[in-house]
Amino acid sequence: MKQLQSLRGMVDVLPGETERWQAVESISREHLSRAGFKEIRTPLLEVTDLFSRSIGEATDVVSKEMYSFIDRGDRSCTLRPEGTAAVVRAVLEHGLLNKGFQRLWYCGPMFRYERPQTGRQRQFHQLGVECFGMNSPTSDAEVISIAWDLLSCLRIEGLVLEINSLGASLDRKKYRDELVDWLKVHFEKLDLDSKQRLDTNPLRILDSKSKQTQDLLQEAPQLKDFLCEESTQRFLALQEILKHLKIPFKVNPCLVRGLDYYSHTAFEITSHHLGSQATVCGGGRYDGLVGELGGSPTSGFGWAIGLERLLMLLGDSIHRNWIPDVYVVNRGIKAEISALVLARKLRAFDLRVQLDSSGASFSKQFKRADRSSATWALVLGDDEVTNGEVRLKRLHSNKMSSTVKEHIFSSSDLEGLMSFLLDEKVTR
Ligand code: ATP
Ligand code: MG
Repeated sequence: MKQLQSLRGMVDVLPGETERWQAVESISREHLSRAGFKEIRTPLLEVTDLFSRSIGEATDVVSKEMYSFIDRGDRSCTLRPEGTAAVVRAVLEHGLLNKGFQRLWYCGPMFRYERPQTGRQRQFHQLGVECFGMNSPTSDAEVISIAWDLLSCLRIEGLVLEINSLGASLDRKKYRDELVDWLKVHFEKLDLDSKQRLDTNPLRILDSKSKQTQDLLQEAPQLKDFLCEESTQRFLALQEILKHLKIPFKVNPCLVRGLDYYSHTAFEITSHHLGSQATVCGGGRYDGLVGELGGSPTSGFGWAIGLERLLMLLGDSIHRNWIPDVYVVNRGIKAEISALVLARKLRAFDLRVQLDSSGASFSKQFKRADRSSATWALVLGDDEVTNGEVRLKRLHSNKMSSTVKEHIFSSSDLEGLMSFLLDEKVTR
């Protein structure tokens, strides 16, 4: 019998690989909850209308990429191709916007019928955030910084933040008319895809992958010249704040994003290590979407990170995130209990603490501490407990160095010990 296989573009994640996923998921969860985001989980399946109304009939996602089918109750259903529309639907259905600002995150599989290749699957995973009720450029910068900081804390290098302003909807409408008139004159020079988009989704032509079309666009009218004074000032303010936050960025006037509901800020974080599927995170402002889906007008801002692409960038470096900050070496009845008490306290201060509970000899425990790659060993024997002390030893991964730093803290000076360890952690 022929061996059954998974569907094209649908990928199994096997042991060995799942640990990397779990590490990214848990670091992300911690990062987002520290910034005040709460998790939302929506169904994988939604009525098709939700996506055609929000993402837009003319987009690639709705016109060619959706997994849609008629269910047994004769309803047209679609496996979600992205997270935002479903989150807005859920937020409206449950009246969450009546409770004030919302900062939400989600993580899970999305489905798009695309041509599978490296960094592009038919079932892929997104980690995303959606914020409702905030509309200042400062809030845009904050939410962008949360994506940027998450990628930095995962130690991903070679990232570029690109931003653009799509202006208010009136700005975009004026620009669209002008662009279409101009492109009609140069119709013959457009690539086939762009020719088809001219009637349906002309702004998407701006991010055409065709070199010929890109060359032609150099001469085309530019969106930035159609922004009203308020939109221009808003975009300049965003740039100032990003500079202030020391987040490097490039203005990319061709960045339009594929979905119809964006306004003002649009951004992408790309990596030159990803080849042609370079975008790891995309997002922006969607002030029109809540109204479009039947809610009272509410501003929105969000982003989504493609987890497969993120994991490709991480290589094995994610393992570094599992390394404890402190390995607690302890021996003796009194010392064991004190060590457990201390470990719990240090963990409450956001330090990664591995407690050796083997009761083995000091030398065996030190070997294990070395193998754990922890930065510090905290040593507690009955002598230390009697003297009211704990010893902190730097564990050298650099074998060339013979100096082993040791610090002694009084066990009543827990604050001193913690602030020493936390200082070391942030400046490492
Ligand atoms: P692309 O231009 O690469 O098709 P997109 O504009 O369609 O991206 P978004 O809808 O903004 O992508 O989704 C956000 C992120 O989700 C992307 O930046 C990417 O990292 C990831 N992503 C999108 N489609 C896929 C896919 N088919 N396979 C894997 N990851 C994807
Ligand atoms: Mg796409």
